[in-house]
Amino acid sequence: MPSLVRTLLLMAACAALPAQAESFISRLLNKPVPGGVAVVPLGEAPVAPVVTYRDRRTMVLRDDTGQWLSVVGIPLDTKPGAQRIVIQEEAGSRTVAFEIRDKVYAAQHIKLKNKRQVNPDPADLARIEKETAEQLAAYRAFRPHGPSNVMFDRPVEGGRLSSPFGLRRFFNGEARNPHSGLDFAVPAGTPVKAPAAGRVILVGNYFFNGKTVFLDHGQGLVSMFCHLSEITVQPGQEVARGEAVGRVGATGRATGPHLHWNVSLNDARVDPAIFIGAFKP
Ligand code: ZN
Repeated sequence: MPSLVRTLLLMAACAALPAQAESFISRLLNKPVPGGVAVVPLGEAPVAPVVTYRDRRTMVLRDDTGQWLSVVGIPLDTKPGAQRIVIQEEAGSRTVAFEIRDKVYAAQHIKLKNKRQVNPDPADLARIEKETAEQLAAYRAFRPHGPSNVMFDRPVEGGRLSSPFGLRRFFNGEARNPHSGLDFAVPAGTPVKAPAAGRVILVGNYFFNGKTVFLDHGQGLVSMFCHLSEITVQPGQEVARGEAVGRVGATGRATGPHLHWNVSLNDARVDPAIFIGAFKP
């Protein structure tokens, strides 16, 4: 190809780039896959629009260009293809479509010596049912302000990321729920710190999760830390970014000490790696 033509083609390609730079929020968080996050532009408006996805309020943030963005958590069981959010405005409501891409998650086989943790007995099941309801309610928290930061700090210092989010899990060969969070391989006793400011909305000692803390960061963004050896906060307490909420342990259904961290957005458990810039497509 003659070099002049090549230069002209290159110039045309550059001119085709969007005039508006993609915002920091989109670059960081827009991973529209099952178990990911979709950042949907809403345009400009004097006040933040109210947006829902599957009847849950979504987070709405303003980017550096003044445009509103809906930040939507995508449940792991969502099929690739078109999804819709509903935007309530003074003039009425409108829907905006966005596209979910496919993502394939790996399988993981785990051996547990404690058979009761694989097939709980009837008394355990009654306890699990009550505990599940309590925790599901916590994930539905929504308060209008926040979060203090969408780029989260890592909740523990050091430690490799061990089990990723979304692994299709088999306990002693039996299929169970996929991995709802991200694991950090860190020693027992390591302090667990709030990745952003938040309010403690629930603490408990649960059959599967062991000692657990739920932290509401605002606008439907909720962190859950579990298998802790110790909890150092109380329900209702406001926690600053970086403040400790407990210590790493191996309580509940855990094969050894590690931190399990869930991140939930509009009641959808999403990949915490997205919020620390460690997402792998
Ligand atoms: Zn885990």
